[in-house]
Amino acid sequence: MKYEYEKATLSVHAGKKPDSLGVVSSIETSSAFHYIDEETQLYPRYFNTPNQQIVIDQICCLEGAEAGLIFGSGMAAISTALTSFLSPGDHAVFQEAIYGGTQSLILEEFDRLGIKYSFAACNSDALIAAIQPNTRIVYAETPANPLLQVVDLPKLVAGTKSRDVITIVDNTFASPINQNPLKLGIDVVIHSGTKYLGGHSDLSFGAVVARQALIDPIYRKAIHYGGNLNALSCYLIERSIKTLAIRVNQQNQNALRIAEFLAGHSCIDQVFYPGLDSHPGHMIAASQMTGFGGMLSFCLAENLSAKRFLESLELIAPAMSLGAVESTVTIPAFTSHKPLPQELREELGISNQLVRMSVGVESANDLIDDLKHALTRAANSKRESRTFSGVHQ
Ligand SMILES: *Cc1c(COP(=O)(O)O)cnc(C)c1O
Repeated sequence: MKYEYEKATLSVHAGKKPDSLGVVSSIETSSAFHYIDEETQLYPRYFNTPNQQIVIDQICCLEGAEAGLIFGSGMAAISTALTSFLSPGDHAVFQEAIYGGTQSLILEEFDRLGIKYSFAACNSDALIAAIQPNTRIVYAETPANPLLQVVDLPKLVAGTKSRDVITIVDNTFASPINQNPLKLGIDVVIHSGTKYLGGHSDLSFGAVVARQALIDPIYRKAIHYGGNLNALSCYLIERSIKTLAIRVNQQNQNALRIAEFLAGHSCIDQVFYPGLDSHPGHMIAASQMTGFGGMLSFCLAENLSAKRFLESLELIAPAMSLGAVESTVTIPAFTSHKPLPQELREELGISNQLVRMSVGVESANDLIDDLKHALTRAANSKRESRTFSGVHQ
């Protein structure tokens, strides 16, 4: 498949086998394949079965990558990639706003493995400044969860070029439709495919893409750790990716409209969306992303009950995951960031009033109406309860 095709075309056509009988591939469930030759032995845990290969081709095409691997989850991709490059005594730099699972992997496993690490603020200068003589990896996640901070990737690449470090970007929030870090000079891109690539809240997988020379060492570890994906999931992913561009483009448009609506609402103190001029990362996002994504977050005014707001939503579901066709919301302080002490959360800007929204592909008008009504109900219930308590004073 030609990389010059636009994303909408690549989404539909990448991974297609020219010799296939139909326009979609067949599902090859075998775990025992006929012996081919000395070089080629197909086996699910060798990450080379036909259905695995199709999905890898699709993601490589969309990211502009030479090679890649898919895994049973995003964390399998992250843990396999990190432990492929890091040995005892090595050091890694991570940005401090990072996916919770990645953070607990670092905090709970790295000491035991003898791997040193630092957390740096969410910007390229801080990440570069944290590099030490034994640093092997600089790891960024942009836009980040849940405040959508943006890291300047070309600056990160420029600042790490003269060092012997591998730059890794978790590109889950952007999806390959909105951002291609490899094209900006980043070495390795990771996805939790459970989110946008899968896109329908019904499967779990992960991907790593890079140049062949960097995939080789990850592949050798992957065979040992065995986080491979089955043919039926591969087939569903192949099907999901065909609509990736149209889903993400719709999510970009919906999210911008919702962010603008929320920014003008009296019950909202602050909106975090890279597509808004007011967002600190807006200029960087505009220069390195082709769309601002479907994730945003906002702070409810102090006098509004976050619980009442969530209960009052009819269309938008309070749910943990993100990146799917249906819109969902969470309160990070009570979900993804619950394990952190309250003071640390406040320091990171994650108050109990912060709501994170994953915008789906529904009609933006209906989503805005749902938010509007829930905000009104949450505001009224606060006023009612105040009058009520006043009566009893
Ligand atoms: C969900 C997520 C992961 C982990 O992916 P799983 O598929 O749940 O293992 C990693 N990074 C980011 C940014 C995520 O949102």
